[in-house]
Amino acid sequence: METILVVDDTNINIKILVELLGDKYDIIVAIGGESAINIASSEQPDLILLDIMMPVMDGFEVCRRLKQNPKTNDIPIIFLTAKTDEDSIERAYEMGGSDYILKPFKPKELMARVKTHLKIQNLIKNLEYLSSYDTMTGILNRRKFFELAQNKFEKEKENLFAIMIDIDKFKGINDKFGHHVGDIVIKTITTCIEDILPKNSIFGRIGGEEFAIICNFENETNLFNYFEKIRNLIKEQSLNIENNTIKFTISIGIAQYNNTFLTIDDLLKRADKMLYKAKETGRDKTILRK
Ligand code: GH3
Ligand code: MG
Ligand code: MG
Repeated sequence: METILVVDDTNINIKILVELLGDKYDIIVAIGGESAINIASSEQPDLILLDIMMPVMDGFEVCRRLKQNPKTNDIPIIFLTAKTDEDSIERAYEMGGSDYILKPFKPKELMARVKTHLKIQNLIKNLEYLSSYDTMTGILNRRKFFELAQNKFEKEKENLFAIMIDIDKFKGINDKFGHHVGDIVIKTITTCIEDILPKNSIFGRIGGEEFAIICNFENETNLFNYFEKIRNLIKEQSLNIENNTIKFTISIGIAQYNNTFLTIDDLLKRADKMLYKAKETGRDKTILRK
């Protein structure tokens, strides 16, 4: 059930809305602006119905603050008010409101608009997910990985590392056992890596069977050992599918940031070069160079 936060200072208005919406939605109530802001932040409702005329803090100010807070700025707000003047309507939209319904409202119209805005919100969330995550593995996709890696590169260059990982002879796994088995191998390897990644790592699937990581780590020797552990852990895995025991390995290239790297792409390219070296010299290994 979706959650709607109803904000109004008048009990009778709240009662009417709860009766109207309570069967279809989870309703939470705030009787003033300040508590509305706190509840919105902690409960993360899917939609807010907001009165304008309230003592202490009016609805415009509540909306302005909700839109300023990254925790609440995505939540659609429908103003529900007796104010019919055009300036108020204009201001409500300027403050970031999604819709404006006049009191006394027509119940069916209110229900329809609530439904519409929840649907739009759902579509936006799905789109945001699809544009940022790889649906097969659930980790960052290539586009989002590069965006977040760039942010990290700008802010946290100290002890910054790029790591490139590629599954060895993966085409052979597909050819021998089928594409669906290949997919399971990709997912298994992703989970293994994800479970033990260094803190605050940015981890993405940047190609079919290629992964990249950006992270800060105390020093290169420890990071090298860390990824050797990951590589060995993956080597120890085996999958039993359709009477086959399937084993797999990965190769890893690592590069540490220094001031000759001007962009995140330079750093990732160096890691990729190390990965290429690992492939050239036999695979199933980790190579790190400054
Ligand atoms: P190397 O050790 O040199 O990396 O050899 P490789 O066979 O892993 O590399 P190559 O680049 O020749 O082949 C990668 C294969 O990965 C080819 C492609 O069909 C397969 N692949 C890419 N994306 C997916 C996917 O999502 N699922 C499956 N099952 N296979 C994929
Ligand atoms: Mg490969
Ligand atoms: Mg590859």
